[in-house]
Amino acid sequence: MLARRLLCSVLLATGAPAPAQDVESIPFGDLGAALLAAADARRLGDPVTEGVDAEVLFLRRIEPLHQRIRLGAIELWVPIEAIGCAAKPETGLTAADVAPIAKPVIKLQKSWVELAELDGGDSARSKRAFTRIENWANSLSASRLAEVTPELATDCAWLAACFRRDPTGSSSRTAEHPFGIVMLFAPKRAHYLAVLGAAGLLDERYRQWFWDDSGRRSGGTALYRRSCLIPFTLGPHSDTGPWCENHTMAGGELVQLSAHQLSHVVTSNVARTAPAWFAEGLALFDTIRATGADETLCTGFRETVDTMVPFAGGNSGRGPAGMLLWVTRDASPYRDGASPRYFLKELAAAWDAKRGFAIVDLETSKIAQFEKGPFLGALAVVPPSIESAQTGVKKGFAEFFRAYCAAFVEHLYEAKVEKRRLLQLVLVELKSRTFDASEKAPDDLLDALEKWTRKSLDAAGGTDSVERGFVDWLSKRR
Ligand SMILES: [Zn+2]
Repeated sequence: MLARRLLCSVLLATGAPAPAQDVESIPFGDLGAALLAAADARRLGDPVTEGVDAEVLFLRRIEPLHQRIRLGAIELWVPIEAIGCAAKPETGLTAADVAPIAKPVIKLQKSWVELAELDGGDSARSKRAFTRIENWANSLSASRLAEVTPELATDCAWLAACFRRDPTGSSSRTAEHPFGIVMLFAPKRAHYLAVLGAAGLLDERYRQWFWDDSGRRSGGTALYRRSCLIPFTLGPHSDTGPWCENHTMAGGELVQLSAHQLSHVVTSNVARTAPAWFAEGLALFDTIRATGADETLCTGFRETVDTMVPFAGGNSGRGPAGMLLWVTRDASPYRDGASPRYFLKELAAAWDAKRGFAIVDLETSKIAQFEKGPFLGALAVVPPSIESAQTGVKKGFAEFFRAYCAAFVEHLYEAKVEKRRLLQLVLVELKSRTFDASEKAPDDLLDALEKWTRKSLDAAGGTDSVERGFVDWLSKRR
């Protein structure tokens, strides 16, 4: 069950979410119906109900309620009206409200175009496009939005096509999708839940996924494959708190959450076969690059609803990735200024050549034990001594592992093979892989690393390996 919890659930410092008991249930149906009614009232003509793609139907249906702000392949959908606690429309958001998110979104997009070579080598064209988009985005915080010129519209369409890959190989599905990667924003919790409510009303198959109690507190939800929902406020402080409670998010927190969530959506489109721990490392790496830090509490799960049936080919959730559920902030050595340096100094300080990495018990703030790994490759598992450890040690390991994954991606970024970044070579390779829902899916990341380094990720014989090289590199970053 825990693995089905929504992406980036914001968890309390008390650890993993507790099952809800005697909690006021969320009126998903009423909230969703109010949202659909508000969208329909703004529509000229009848809503489109034909088509097979649940995501496209959903987006088309709620589109009239939104101002669509296209920033290349990414679209910010700003609700003109929002649904309130009494399931009635109230004031929504404006373009100026999302202006601080625009720059990181463009930065993250640029980074992916460059690293995964999404422009097919036409870097002159992508550079031109991004300059135009950046200039236009400056007007988001102005009193009037600048005009969308035909050139700008063409650039956005071209970039959207660069990011539009259908790893299942179904060309009809790709052709049908008229939107880029969509980020939906919710000013308050009620609207957040209304969006999930509407999605469940439009397609019952996904109801059990969207109409989940974790919605009252989650810090973002992946909707289908190409869209996500971002809240402007946090929900109640406990799983049993009132569903309509709102807590203000610091400005920086919202921007980080948006970038982190967006990275997960991009990864699940472009590098679909990336294992969960690598996707989490990428999300941290992307967020730090785009916003300067990442203090989000993401659990590392990136399941999206369209894969509920053929979910997660083979190895994607393998290794200690499940431990990310225990990620917390309290007393962690990997918080408060550690993320801007990709946790390198903190990880190096935790390393002991003989014993391995020091794992701190976050409840006592003392070193509880040492773990040597391997943590990443085909042999990696949650160390049994962590599995049976106290809550504080589990949290300490989760915080260590989160930092370790981010530092690993930074290592691949810094490492060069034939003058190219190893991260680039790996992402280009992953981009070319097709999603295979079979249990025995090959591990594409391991293949890609092996191809370019001629080493396996973790060494079966305890000798040379990519992970060992990473730890050597890391130990010198003090
Ligand atoms: Zn994450």
